[in-house]
Amino acid sequence: MNKNRREILFEKIDNVFREDNSEFQSEDLKNIVKKHFDKSSHYLGLLKKYQLPLYLFETEILRKKAADFKNAFSSVLPNTCFYFAMKCNNHPELSRAMVKNGYGIDVSSGVELETALSVGAEDIVFSGPGKRESELLTAILNAGKVRVLVDSFGELERLKKIAKAYKTEIRIGVRLTTNPNALWRKFGIFPERLEEFYNETVKSKYIKFEGLQFHTSWNMNSDAQCEFLKKIGSVLENASDACKKAVSFIDIGGGYWPEQGEWLHYETTNVGMLEKSLDCLDPEKKNMHYIIPAKPIDFFAEEISKVIKEHIFSKTECRICFEPGRWVCNDSVQIFVSVVDVKEPDIAIVDAGINTIGWDRFEYDYFPVLNLTRPAMSEKRFNILGSLCTPHDVWGYSYWGEDIKAGDVLMIPMQGAYTYSLRQNFIKPIPDFVIV
Ligand SMILES: *Cc1c(COP(=O)(O)O)cnc(C)c1O
Repeated sequence: MNKNRREILFEKIDNVFREDNSEFQSEDLKNIVKKHFDKSSHYLGLLKKYQLPLYLFETEILRKKAADFKNAFSSVLPNTCFYFAMKCNNHPELSRAMVKNGYGIDVSSGVELETALSVGAEDIVFSGPGKRESELLTAILNAGKVRVLVDSFGELERLKKIAKAYKTEIRIGVRLTTNPNALWRKFGIFPERLEEFYNETVKSKYIKFEGLQFHTSWNMNSDAQCEFLKKIGSVLENASDACKKAVSFIDIGGGYWPEQGEWLHYETTNVGMLEKSLDCLDPEKKNMHYIIPAKPIDFFAEEISKVIKEHIFSKTECRICFEPGRWVCNDSVQIFVSVVDVKEPDIAIVDAGINTIGWDRFEYDYFPVLNLTRPAMSEKRFNILGSLCTPHDVWGYSYWGEDIKAGDVLMIPMQGAYTYSLRQNFIKPIPDFVIV
């Protein structure tokens, strides 16, 4: 536990390069590239009808991922419920599609709550710190459809007051703090205070306490979730019978990393940054990308259900809820751009900027840039840059294809998560959002 940062990072280097054999292109990545290239004529045909750049939302991919996620957990647990975390992609049509796919919606603000209601969601959980009174009021006015996942003792008092004023019963859960350190502390109450919180809820006849929520993010495996479920088990062990009985659901949040793992640029992320600071950046690896592996969803289901059966069901036979965002919607949106200018032997400028995705994602995250006009299963070093007046406007440091010329159509696949939601009105217009 007392490893210093340097040791931890070096351990990570080891893991990373053992996992993918230090190859510039892993087999998994090649398979993903090939899968998308195989559809190039389909995409190019479709794109003729539209002006680039654009986002393409493929409802069938979302439907399949939503079903896969559900099946993984509902096949190992008796009573489950699924909510799509809207913040991950807040286009209303994604939420509408997820409602059709049999999901509830997890919202984190009044605006998101209004969107969820407008697309016909009947089962909504409202979580997040610092909910305003106007936001709590919207929840109360829609109490039949919304459960509030209360973030603090103060929020409970504010909710009680409004519920009483409107003489409306509201169903609630309470969010638990998973990590008492640093900034994660801003979420929820400490699990040790559950009984105290429950006792506050029963003082109001308008508050119906029903369960618990927690969320851990960036889960490459199920360790964090399993560890916290054990913690909840021990808290319930010591809880009063009334409190235990009141817990009819445990919502274990989202944060499941897609199975393809996290793809990062070597030079600008932990491993390379550390080497750079120690003045030992390996020039061979300078332009490389690497993969931090993630476990498949069936593995999460297996491990998490084992812990739930052992540590939770012995205290309460509750429903288990899930709030996936990234895992279900990552693959369902593709971005297409076209090359405006190849201005140097290694610089191409495309017609969309990072305002499309809202942040300098591709300086750190690697995603393949596929030249659909000249497909080839080889990756070439090349700076693929956007047309905004900022040097942070990077799509990638390489492309897959035979060559690259002005007018070529490039695809950046798997951009469904944390891109559209973060789009910004900055210099260039936001691309159209096309749904198929
Ligand atoms: C962000 C968030 C999620 C979704 O996280 P993903 O990493 O997109 O799966 C779920 N629940 C809560 C409370 C969140 O804050």
